[in-house]
Amino acid sequence: TQHLLGRAQAHAHLGSFLHLDPEAALSTARAADAARAAGQAGPLTGVPLAHKDIFVTADMPTTAGSKMLAHYRSPFDATVVARLKAAGTVSLGKLNCDEYAMGSANENSAYGPVHNPWDTQRVPGGSSGGSAAAVAARLLPAATGTDTGGSIRQPASFSGITGIKPTYGVCSRYGMIAFASSLDQAGPMARSAEDCALLLSAMSGFDERDATSAERPAQNFHAQMLSAREGATASQPLKGLRVGLPQEFFPAALAADVNGAVRHALAELEKLGATLVEVSLPRTELSIPVYYIIAPAEASSNLSRFDGVKFGHRAGQFDDLLDMYKKTRAEGFGAEVKRRIMIGTYVLSHGYYDAYYLQAQKLRRMIAEDFQRCFTQCDVIAGPVAPTVAWKIGEQGGDPLQAYLADIFTLPASLAGLPGMSVPAGFGAGGLPVGLQLIGNYFAEGQLLHTAHALQ
Ligand code: GLN
Repeated sequence: TQHLLGRAQAHAHLGSFLHLDPEAALSTARAADAARAAGQAGPLTGVPLAHKDIFVTADMPTTAGSKMLAHYRSPFDATVVARLKAAGTVSLGKLNCDEYAMGSANENSAYGPVHNPWDTQRVPGGSSGGSAAAVAARLLPAATGTDTGGSIRQPASFSGITGIKPTYGVCSRYGMIAFASSLDQAGPMARSAEDCALLLSAMSGFDERDATSAERPAQNFHAQMLSAREGATASQPLKGLRVGLPQEFFPAALAADVNGAVRHALAELEKLGATLVEVSLPRTELSIPVYYIIAPAEASSNLSRFDGVKFGHRAGQFDDLLDMYKKTRAEGFGAEVKRRIMIGTYVLSHGYYDAYYLQAQKLRRMIAEDFQRCFTQCDVIAGPVAPTVAWKIGEQGGDPLQAYLADIFTLPASLAGLPGMSVPAGFGAGGLPVGLQLIGNYFAEGQLLHTAHALQ
């Protein structure tokens, strides 16, 4: 903990930490030492980590990357935070992210961008960019992230680390500041599938305080990751595993370096005994408009609570209540958040609801059905995480559409609520990391982790 606190301070230029609490971290670490000395240590006792600043914490500030919550402090811990604390982990602080997790590059944080440690001119991906950069720069062995439409998988890919977004409902959303409630899901980001398995076991499980939490017994994902497949051999641990490659995930426009790295990783899976089969997810392209209707619709509702009354920022001067709301929200929210609130309010408004929101909901169900058809032909689905390697900070010139389009390979699994992960596949142009995406059927996290572990 002491060593990593020093590293975090020495790498402040990366912008990954929004809050560092050395005193609290050291005292928790000492308690972990005592637990270990008393023979009461678990696999995560004393493991340093930090949380994406979208999880509320009682002992540290929580900003969600927004000016709106600049001096906000929650009276309680998010369930994910509380569970990792109970497992003995040591939290060093809070990690930078896109404002309310809206973004793909961590360029939308009110507290400045995060720099990719592989090339500090480039983005680390987003919205869990602080988490990805901190793990990639070895400031932490692990961090929490959240994924609504790719925010664990894409920054893991851009930063050369491993991350898993479990099935919707596996991790409690209690205390995770809501962006799009039907999509938001927490997950671990770490150096390996094995570390992710240990973290996910601790942070997941039913929570009666989240109505969308899956009612399942606690899972030991580490044991699931290690358990051998039927018919597996020492040299072919993935023997018999059918890996589906959706043709839509390999379009002609896919960057050659990304394609090369992904194909290389797929060849490795074959060497490990897996067979590759071609499958189809015909509505892959439609996942972009569907997501960018549903996510903003839910965001416009979720963010209505930031009105200057209940918590967070309040405008200093105003005429009446309506003026206070307007000024508070105009000052507190950044451009991307305002754009989403406007899109969301529009698609939900009378006269447009049927044309946009309802259509999107119908397509969302068809996207989920497409996956189920695929899973009759294969056990896991594989493909790229993103169409390119990490881009340069500012390169998109503030054009939000470019970022939206780059979400094409992560949005389908999010809309279907399926587990997805990113594992390092290799390197693309400029020596930048490229991730392989693995998507499993509902609650098949163990199989995803097993596959990723074999590859690592
Ligand atoms: N890039 C997507 C968006 O901007 C996904 C973000 C996320 O998963 N939180 O909405």
